[in-house]
Amino acid sequence: MDIPRIFTITESAHRIHNPFTPEKLATLGAVLRLEQGTRVLDLGSGSGEMLCTWARDYGIIGTGIDMSRLFTEQAKRRAEELGVADQVQFIHGDAAGYVADEKVDVAACVGATWIGGGVAGTMELLARSLRPGGIMLIGEPYWRKLPPTDEVAGGCLAHSVADFLTLPDLLASFGRLGYDVVEMVLADQDSWDRYEAPKWLTMRRWLEANPDDVLAKEVRAHLTSEPVRYATYTREYLGWGVFALMAR
Ligand code: SAH
Repeated sequence: MDIPRIFTITESAHRIHNPFTPEKLATLGAVLRLEQGTRVLDLGSGSGEMLCTWARDYGIIGTGIDMSRLFTEQAKRRAEELGVADQVQFIHGDAAGYVADEKVDVAACVGATWIGGGVAGTMELLARSLRPGGIMLIGEPYWRKLPPTDEVAGGCLAHSVADFLTLPDLLASFGRLGYDVVEMVLADQDSWDRYEAPKWLTMRRWLEANPDDVLAKEVRAHLTSEPVRYATYTREYLGWGVFALMAR
C-alpha cells in the first residue's frame, strides 16, 4: 500500500507537505493551548512534523497514520531526531475509517480530507475519536480569489470552482455542520512558496540522479511547467488554512 510515486518524488525533501512554514505550525500549536500529555490523533500525518514538534515543544502524546511508506519512515526518523520517539507513534496504513481505541483531546486531518470523502465526512470520522469538548483540526484549501471560470480553477489543479469555498463560506459551512470555529491559522503567499518552490529543486536533482526512470519524462514536463502554472493560478487564487473546531 502506498501513494502514487510522483508525490514521494516531488515532496521527498519536505518536512511539511502543506503551504505552512515551521513558524505557522508552531503558531498553530501555541494558539491551541496544548498541554503536557494532550493526546493528538493525526490522519494523513505525512512526515510527522506536526506531531514531532508539538511533542518536543508542548509535551503532547500523538498517533499519526499515513499511507505513504516513505513519509511514515521519515516521521519515525524525525521523532528519533527530536528525542520524542516515546511520545509519538506513526502507523503506515490507510486512515479511511480509522478510529482511535482511546478518545483523544485533538483529532486532526491537515490537508488530506479526501480520507473521509471530503470535509464533512472527515469531520464525522474524526468525531468518532474525539472526547467530548475536544478540538478538531481541519486543514483545507479555500478560494482567496474566486476563479472566474472552471478553466482557471483547473489551473489551480481543482476540477471546478465548486471544489472549494471562499473563506467566509468555508467558515459558515463548519457552523452548519454543528461546530464552532474556535481558532484558525492561515497560509499566505510566502508560505505557499515554501510548499511549492522546494518541489522544483527536488525534481531537478531527482532528474539528474534518475535520467532513465520511467517517470523521468513526466517529472521533466512538470518541472518545465510548474513555476509558471503555480505563479499564474495557485499563488493568486488558492488559500489554505487550518481550522480549529469544537462541537456546539
Ligand atoms: N498532514 C501532513 C501531510 C499532508 S499531505 C502535513 O501537513 O505535512 C497528505 C498526506 O495524506 C500524505 O502524506 C499522504 O501520504 C497521505 N494520505 C493520502 N491518502 C491517505 C489515506 N487514505 N490514508 C492515510 N494517509 C493518506
